[in-house]
Amino acid sequence: MIGAFTFNTSQRIVFENGAAANLASHAASFLGPRPFLVTDPGIVSLGLQASCEVALADAGHELARFSDVVADPPRSLVDAAVDAARAHGATSVIGFGGGSSLDVAKLVALLLGSNEDLDDAWGIGNAKGPRLPLILVPTTAGTGSEVTPISIITVGEEEKRGVVSPFLLPDLAILDPLLTLGLPGPVTAATGIDAMVHAIEGYASKSANNNPVSRTLAVEALKLLGANIEKAVFTPADKDARGAMLLGSMLAGMAFANSPVAAVHALAYPIGGTFHVPHGLSNALVLPHVLKFNNTVASETYTEIAPIVFPALAEVSDARARSDLFAEHLADLAAKLGLQTRLRDVGISEADLPKMASDAMKQTRLLINNPRELGEMDAFDIYKAAL
Ligand SMILES: [Zn+2]
Repeated sequence: MIGAFTFNTSQRIVFENGAAANLASHAASFLGPRPFLVTDPGIVSLGLQASCEVALADAGHELARFSDVVADPPRSLVDAAVDAARAHGATSVIGFGGGSSLDVAKLVALLLGSNEDLDDAWGIGNAKGPRLPLILVPTTAGTGSEVTPISIITVGEEEKRGVVSPFLLPDLAILDPLLTLGLPGPVTAATGIDAMVHAIEGYASKSANNNPVSRTLAVEALKLLGANIEKAVFTPADKDARGAMLLGSMLAGMAFANSPVAAVHALAYPIGGTFHVPHGLSNALVLPHVLKFNNTVASETYTEIAPIVFPALAEVSDARARSDLFAEHLADLAAKLGLQTRLRDVGISEADLPKMASDAMKQTRLLINNPRELGEMDAFDIYKAAL
Protein backbone atom coordinates (compact mmCIF):
# COMPACT_ATOMS: atom_id res chain seq x y z
CA MET A 1 0.00 0.00 0.00
CA ILE A 2 1.21 3.47 -0.83
CA GLY A 3 0.71 5.83 2.11
CA ALA A 4 -0.66 9.36 1.79
CA PHE A 5 1.88 12.10 1.13
CA THR A 6 2.28 15.60 -0.27
CA PHE A 7 5.05 16.80 -2.57
CA ASN A 8 5.98 20.42 -3.35
CA THR A 9 8.73 21.75 -5.54
CA SER A 10 9.73 24.83 -7.51
CA GLN A 11 7.26 25.87 -10.16
CA ARG A 12 9.62 25.90 -13.12
CA ILE A 13 13.16 24.66 -13.72
CA VAL A 14 15.49 25.57 -16.57
CA PHE A 15 18.64 23.46 -16.98
CA GLU A 16 21.02 24.62 -19.70
CA ASN A 17 24.65 25.61 -20.20
CA GLY A 18 24.54 29.41 -20.31
CA ALA A 19 20.98 29.66 -18.92
CA ALA A 20 21.90 32.44 -16.46
CA ALA A 21 22.60 34.83 -19.33
CA ASN A 22 19.02 34.25 -20.51
CA LEU A 23 17.41 34.89 -17.12
CA ALA A 24 15.73 38.07 -18.36
CA SER A 25 13.81 36.17 -21.04
CA HIS A 26 13.09 33.07 -18.90
CA ALA A 27 11.58 35.26 -16.17
CA ALA A 28 10.19 38.07 -18.35
CA SER A 29 6.60 37.61 -17.23
CA PHE A 30 7.20 38.18 -13.51
CA LEU A 31 10.42 40.18 -12.99
CA GLY A 32 8.64 43.55 -13.04
CA PRO A 33 10.55 46.78 -13.74
CA ARG A 34 12.83 46.71 -10.64
CA PRO A 35 14.43 43.34 -9.85
CA PHE A 36 16.73 43.03 -6.83
CA LEU A 37 19.72 40.66 -7.07
CA VAL A 38 21.16 39.06 -3.92
CA THR A 39 24.68 37.64 -4.11
CA ASP A 40 28.08 37.58 -2.40
CA PRO A 41 31.34 39.46 -3.08
CA GLY A 42 33.09 36.33 -4.40
CA ILE A 43 30.54 35.96 -7.21
CA VAL A 44 30.94 39.63 -8.14
CA SER A 45 34.74 39.45 -8.19
CA LEU A 46 34.50 36.46 -10.54
CA GLY A 47 31.89 38.35 -12.60
CA LEU A 48 29.59 35.31 -12.69
CA GLN A 49 26.46 37.47 -12.48
CA ALA A 50 27.62 39.94 -15.18
CA SER A 51 25.97 38.42 -18.25
CA CYS A 52 22.69 38.08 -16.38
CA GLU A 53 22.85 41.73 -15.29
CA VAL A 54 23.66 42.97 -18.79
CA ALA A 55 20.72 41.04 -20.22
CA LEU A 56 18.39 42.48 -17.57
CA ALA A 57 19.54 46.03 -18.37
CA ASP A 58 19.16 45.38 -22.11
CA ALA A 59 15.60 44.21 -21.48
CA GLY A 60 14.85 47.52 -19.75
CA HIS A 61 14.93 46.41 -16.10
CA GLU A 62 16.25 48.71 -13.41
CA LEU A 63 18.33 46.30 -11.34
CA ALA A 64 19.80 46.82 -7.88
CA ARG A 65 22.45 44.47 -6.55
CA PHE A 66 23.07 43.52 -2.91
CA SER A 67 26.39 41.66 -2.75
CA ASP A 68 27.19 41.52 0.97
CA VAL A 69 26.08 37.93 1.66
CA VAL A 70 28.48 35.92 3.84
CA ALA A 71 28.54 32.23 4.78
CA ASP A 72 26.22 31.40 7.70
CA PRO A 73 24.31 34.63 7.04
CA PRO A 74 23.36 36.45 10.26
CA ARG A 75 19.99 37.98 10.89
CA SER A 76 21.40 41.53 10.63
CA LEU A 77 22.35 40.74 7.03
CA VAL A 78 18.79 39.72 6.19
CA ASP A 79 17.56 43.00 7.71
CA ALA A 80 20.09 45.00 5.66
CA ALA A 81 19.09 43.21 2.45
CA VAL A 82 15.38 43.78 3.13
CA ASP A 83 16.05 47.50 3.75
CA ALA A 84 18.03 47.80 0.52
CA ALA A 85 15.35 45.99 -1.48
CA ARG A 86 12.64 48.21 0.01
CA ALA A 87 14.64 51.36 -0.79
CA HIS A 88 14.96 50.12 -4.37
CA GLY A 89 11.23 49.48 -4.64
CA ALA A 90 11.96 45.89 -5.66
CA THR A 91 9.38 44.15 -7.83
CA SER A 92 11.13 40.76 -7.76
CA VAL A 93 14.12 39.07 -6.11
CA ILE A 94 16.92 37.08 -7.76
CA GLY A 95 19.10 34.89 -5.52
CA PHE A 96 22.41 34.25 -7.30
CA GLY A 97 25.16 32.23 -5.60
CA GLY A 98 25.68 29.51 -3.03
CA GLY A 99 23.14 28.35 -0.48
CA SER A 100 23.62 31.44 1.70
CA SER A 101 22.72 33.90 -1.08
CA LEU A 102 19.68 31.84 -2.04
CA ASP A 103 18.54 31.58 1.59
CA VAL A 104 18.80 35.36 2.06
CA ALA A 105 17.01 36.03 -1.25
CA LYS A 106 14.12 33.79 -0.17
CA LEU A 107 13.58 35.79 3.02
CA VAL A 108 13.90 39.15 1.23
CA ALA A 109 11.18 38.07 -1.21
CA LEU A 110 9.00 36.84 1.67
CA LEU A 111 9.43 39.75 4.08
CA LEU A 112 9.05 42.39 1.39
CA GLY A 113 6.04 40.73 -0.19
CA SER A 114 4.13 40.11 3.04
CA ASN A 115 5.49 42.78 5.42
CA GLU A 116 5.53 40.14 8.15
CA ASP A 117 8.07 40.09 10.97
CA LEU A 118 10.85 37.50 10.66
CA ASP A 119 10.28 36.64 14.32
CA ASP A 120 6.78 35.43 13.48
CA ALA A 121 8.00 33.35 10.54
CA TRP A 122 10.60 31.05 12.17
CA GLY A 123 9.71 27.38 12.22
CA ILE A 124 7.64 25.15 10.02
CA GLY A 125 4.61 26.61 8.23
CA ASN A 126 4.49 29.89 10.17
CA ALA A 127 5.22 32.29 7.29
CA LYS A 128 2.08 34.02 6.05
CA GLY A 129 3.13 35.23 2.61
CA PRO A 130 2.65 36.20 -0.10
CA ARG A 131 6.16 36.90 -1.36
CA LEU A 132 7.59 38.85 -4.28
CA PRO A 133 8.37 36.90 -7.47
CA LEU A 134 11.53 34.88 -6.80
CA ILE A 135 14.19 33.43 -9.11
CA LEU A 136 17.04 31.31 -7.73
CA VAL A 137 20.30 30.63 -9.56
CA PRO A 138 22.67 28.28 -7.70
CA THR A 139 26.41 28.52 -8.35
CA THR A 140 27.36 25.52 -6.23
CA ALA A 141 26.15 21.94 -6.61
CA GLY A 142 25.15 20.99 -3.10
CA THR A 143 22.50 22.76 -1.07
CA GLY A 144 19.64 22.23 -3.51
CA SER A 145 18.29 25.46 -2.00
CA GLU A 146 16.73 26.35 -5.36
CA VAL A 147 14.12 23.61 -4.78
CA THR A 148 13.76 23.64 -0.98
CA PRO A 149 11.22 25.62 1.08
CA ILE A 150 13.90 26.31 3.71
CA SER A 151 16.07 29.28 4.71
CA ILE A 152 18.69 28.88 7.45
CA ILE A 153 19.90 32.00 9.27
CA THR A 154 22.35 32.44 12.17
CA VAL A 155 20.72 34.16 15.13
CA GLY A 156 22.83 35.64 17.92
CA GLU A 157 26.33 34.22 18.14
CA GLU A 158 25.80 30.76 16.79
CA GLU A 159 22.23 29.51 16.79
CA LYS A 160 20.98 28.27 13.40
CA ARG A 161 17.31 28.99 12.89
CA GLY A 162 15.13 28.09 9.95
CA VAL A 163 12.06 29.34 8.18
CA VAL A 164 10.32 26.43 6.44
CA SER A 165 7.41 27.38 4.20
CA PRO A 166 6.15 26.61 0.68
CA PHE A 167 6.31 30.41 0.15
CA LEU A 168 10.10 30.04 -0.05
CA LEU A 169 9.95 27.86 -3.17
CA PRO A 170 10.83 30.06 -6.16
CA ASP A 171 8.82 30.72 -9.30
CA LEU A 172 11.87 29.72 -11.31
CA ALA A 173 15.11 27.83 -10.64
CA ILE A 174 17.87 28.32 -13.21
CA LEU A 175 20.52 25.61 -13.35
CA ASP A 176 23.51 26.69 -15.40
CA PRO A 177 26.40 24.22 -15.11
CA LEU A 178 28.83 26.79 -16.57
CA LEU A 179 28.50 28.82 -13.35
CA THR A 180 30.06 25.95 -11.40
CA LEU A 181 33.15 25.35 -13.59
CA GLY A 182 35.37 27.58 -11.43
CA LEU A 183 34.45 26.09 -8.06
CA PRO A 184 37.59 25.10 -6.16
CA GLY A 185 38.13 21.37 -5.46
CA PRO A 186 37.42 21.50 -1.71
CA VAL A 187 34.15 23.38 -2.30
CA THR A 188 33.11 20.96 -5.05
CA ALA A 189 33.91 18.02 -2.77
CA ALA A 190 32.19 19.34 0.37
CA THR A 191 29.06 20.60 -1.39
CA GLY A 192 28.88 17.36 -3.40
CA ILE A 193 29.01 15.27 -0.22
CA ASP A 194 26.32 17.54 1.28
CA ALA A 195 24.09 16.74 -1.70
CA MET A 196 24.73 13.01 -1.16
CA VAL A 197 23.76 13.42 2.50
CA HIS A 198 20.49 15.08 1.41
CA ALA A 199 19.71 12.06 -0.75
CA ILE A 200 20.77 9.49 1.88
CA GLU A 201 18.93 11.16 4.78
CA GLY A 202 15.89 11.93 2.62
CA TYR A 203 15.72 8.31 1.43
CA ALA A 204 15.92 6.91 4.98
CA SER A 205 13.96 9.68 6.74
CA LYS A 206 11.53 8.59 9.44
CA SER A 207 9.31 11.54 8.51
CA ALA A 208 5.64 10.62 8.05
CA ASN A 209 5.95 12.30 4.65
CA ASN A 210 8.79 10.04 3.43
CA ASN A 211 7.34 9.26 0.02
CA PRO A 212 8.00 7.32 -3.19
CA VAL A 213 8.65 10.49 -5.22
CA SER A 214 11.42 11.58 -2.85
CA ARG A 215 12.95 8.10 -2.78
CA THR A 216 12.93 7.89 -6.57
CA LEU A 217 14.62 11.28 -6.81
CA ALA A 218 17.15 10.33 -4.13
CA VAL A 219 18.15 7.21 -6.05
CA GLU A 220 18.66 9.18 -9.26
CA ALA A 221 20.57 11.86 -7.34
CA LEU A 222 22.92 9.29 -5.81
CA LYS A 223 23.54 7.77 -9.26
CA LEU A 224 24.57 11.14 -10.69
CA LEU A 225 26.53 12.31 -7.65
CA GLY A 226 28.31 9.00 -7.05
CA ALA A 227 29.38 8.66 -10.67
CA ASN A 228 30.57 12.26 -11.07
CA ILE A 229 31.91 13.68 -7.82
CA GLU A 230 35.50 12.57 -8.43
CA LYS A 231 35.45 13.83 -12.02
CA ALA A 232 34.08 17.19 -10.91
CA VAL A 233 36.81 17.55 -8.26
CA PHE A 234 39.77 16.30 -10.31
CA THR A 235 38.79 17.54 -13.80
CA PRO A 236 36.98 20.73 -12.81
CA ALA A 237 36.38 21.98 -16.38
CA ASP A 238 34.40 18.83 -17.28
CA LYS A 239 31.04 20.38 -18.19
CA ASP A 240 29.21 17.06 -18.22
CA ALA A 241 30.41 16.15 -14.74
CA ARG A 242 29.51 19.64 -13.50
CA GLY A 243 26.06 19.36 -15.07
CA ALA A 244 25.53 15.96 -13.47
CA MET A 245 26.52 17.31 -10.06
CA LEU A 246 24.20 20.32 -10.40
CA LEU A 247 21.30 18.12 -11.49
CA GLY A 248 22.09 15.54 -8.79
CA SER A 249 22.12 18.18 -6.08
CA MET A 250 18.81 19.57 -7.32
CA LEU A 251 17.18 16.12 -7.31
CA ALA A 252 18.52 15.49 -3.80
CA GLY A 253 17.12 18.89 -2.78
CA MET A 254 13.68 17.98 -4.16
CA ALA A 255 13.87 14.68 -2.27
CA PHE A 256 14.73 16.10 1.15
CA ALA A 257 12.48 19.13 0.75
CA ASN A 258 9.61 16.64 1.05
CA SER A 259 11.23 13.85 3.09
CA PRO A 260 13.41 15.85 5.46
CA VAL A 261 16.98 15.27 6.59
CA ALA A 262 17.91 14.02 10.03
CA ALA A 263 20.76 13.50 12.49
CA VAL A 264 23.71 14.09 10.13
CA HIS A 265 22.43 17.64 9.64
CA ALA A 266 21.47 18.05 13.30
CA LEU A 267 24.99 17.13 14.40
CA ALA A 268 26.59 19.19 11.63
CA TYR A 269 24.96 22.46 12.71
CA PRO A 270 26.96 22.94 15.96
CA ILE A 271 30.17 22.35 13.95
CA GLY A 272 29.21 25.03 11.45
CA GLY A 273 27.69 27.41 14.00
CA THR A 274 30.48 27.42 16.57
CA PHE A 275 33.56 26.66 14.49
CA HIS A 276 32.51 28.25 11.18
CA VAL A 277 33.18 25.09 9.25
CA PRO A 278 31.38 25.13 5.86
CA HIS A 279 28.06 23.27 5.88
CA GLY A 280 29.11 20.52 3.47
CA LEU A 281 32.32 19.75 5.33
CA SER A 282 30.46 19.71 8.68
CA ASN A 283 28.17 17.06 7.24
CA ALA A 284 31.02 15.04 5.77
CA LEU A 285 32.78 14.96 9.16
CA VAL A 286 29.91 13.29 11.01
CA LEU A 287 28.29 11.35 8.15
CA PRO A 288 30.05 7.97 8.53
CA HIS A 289 29.62 7.96 12.29
CA VAL A 290 25.91 8.79 12.21
CA LEU A 291 25.33 6.09 9.58
CA LYS A 292 27.12 3.52 11.73
CA PHE A 293 25.00 4.58 14.72
CA ASN A 294 21.83 4.24 12.63
CA ASN A 295 22.84 0.89 11.15
CA THR A 296 21.44 -1.07 14.10
CA VAL A 297 17.95 -0.15 12.89
CA ALA A 298 18.34 1.21 9.33
CA SER A 299 20.67 -1.18 7.53
CA GLU A 300 17.75 -2.66 5.55
CA THR A 301 17.24 0.83 4.10
CA TYR A 302 20.87 1.81 3.57
CA THR A 303 21.61 -1.51 1.91
CA GLU A 304 19.27 -0.49 -0.94
CA ILE A 305 21.20 2.67 -1.80
CA ALA A 306 24.79 1.67 -0.96
CA PRO A 307 25.48 -0.04 -4.35
CA ILE A 308 24.11 2.98 -6.21
CA VAL A 309 27.02 5.05 -4.94
CA PHE A 310 29.57 2.23 -4.72
CA PRO A 311 28.66 -0.49 -7.28
CA ALA A 312 31.21 -2.94 -5.79
CA LEU A 313 29.04 -3.15 -2.65
CA ALA A 314 26.49 -5.15 -4.65
CA GLU A 315 28.81 -8.12 -4.00
CA VAL A 316 28.18 -7.89 -0.25
CA SER A 317 24.90 -9.66 0.45
CA ASP A 318 24.51 -9.16 4.21
CA ALA A 319 22.56 -5.92 4.79
CA ARG A 320 24.37 -4.94 7.97
CA ALA A 321 27.83 -5.64 6.56
CA ARG A 322 26.98 -3.75 3.37
CA SER A 323 25.67 -0.76 5.34
CA ASP A 324 28.75 -0.63 7.56
CA LEU A 325 30.92 -0.72 4.43
CA PHE A 326 28.77 2.05 2.94
CA ALA A 327 29.67 4.30 5.90
CA GLU A 328 33.36 3.41 5.58
CA HIS A 329 33.42 3.95 1.83
CA LEU A 330 31.86 7.38 2.29
CA ALA A 331 34.60 8.26 4.79
CA ASP A 332 37.23 7.03 2.32
CA LEU A 333 35.61 9.04 -0.48
CA ALA A 334 35.80 12.27 1.54
CA ALA A 335 39.50 11.63 2.23
CA LYS A 336 40.18 10.80 -1.42
CA LEU A 337 38.52 14.09 -2.45
CA GLY A 338 40.97 15.92 -0.17
CA LEU A 339 38.54 16.84 2.62
CA GLN A 340 39.49 16.90 6.27
CA THR A 341 38.11 13.80 7.93
CA ARG A 342 38.39 14.37 11.70
CA LEU A 343 36.83 17.02 13.95
CA ARG A 344 40.29 17.77 15.32
CA ASP A 345 41.38 18.73 11.78
CA VAL A 346 39.01 21.72 11.99
CA GLY A 347 40.13 22.85 15.45
CA ILE A 348 37.66 20.95 17.63
CA SER A 349 38.92 19.30 20.82
CA GLU A 350 37.37 16.86 23.27
CA ALA A 351 36.52 19.69 25.67
CA ASP A 352 34.20 21.15 23.01
CA LEU A 353 32.12 18.02 22.61
CA PRO A 354 29.66 18.29 25.56
CA LYS A 355 28.40 21.72 24.43
CA MET A 356 28.20 20.54 20.82
CA ALA A 357 26.14 17.52 21.91
CA SER A 358 23.82 19.76 23.90
CA ASP A 359 23.50 22.22 20.98
CA ALA A 360 22.70 19.37 18.58
CA MET A 361 19.69 18.49 20.75
CA LYS A 362 18.14 21.87 19.82
CA GLN A 363 17.70 20.61 16.25
CA THR A 364 14.50 18.78 17.12
CA ARG A 365 12.99 19.54 13.69
CA LEU A 366 15.73 17.33 12.20
CA LEU A 367 16.26 14.75 14.96
CA ILE A 368 12.65 13.58 14.77
CA ASN A 369 13.38 12.34 11.24
CA ASN A 370 16.32 10.16 12.24
CA PRO A 371 15.76 6.43 11.72
CA ARG A 372 17.11 5.75 15.23
CA GLU A 373 16.30 7.83 18.29
CA LEU A 374 19.33 9.88 19.22
CA GLY A 375 19.89 11.50 22.63
CA GLU A 376 22.54 13.84 23.98
CA MET A 377 24.85 11.00 25.11
CA ASP A 378 24.56 9.42 21.65
CA ALA A 379 25.49 12.75 20.06
CA PHE A 380 28.50 12.99 22.36
CA ASP A 381 29.59 9.44 21.46
CA ILE A 382 29.23 10.16 17.74
CA TYR A 383 31.31 13.34 18.04
CA LYS A 384 33.91 11.40 20.04
CA ALA A 385 34.11 8.77 17.31
CA ALA A 386 34.52 11.57 14.75
CA LEU A 387 37.19 13.42 16.76
ZN1 LIG B 1 22.84 20.07 3.78
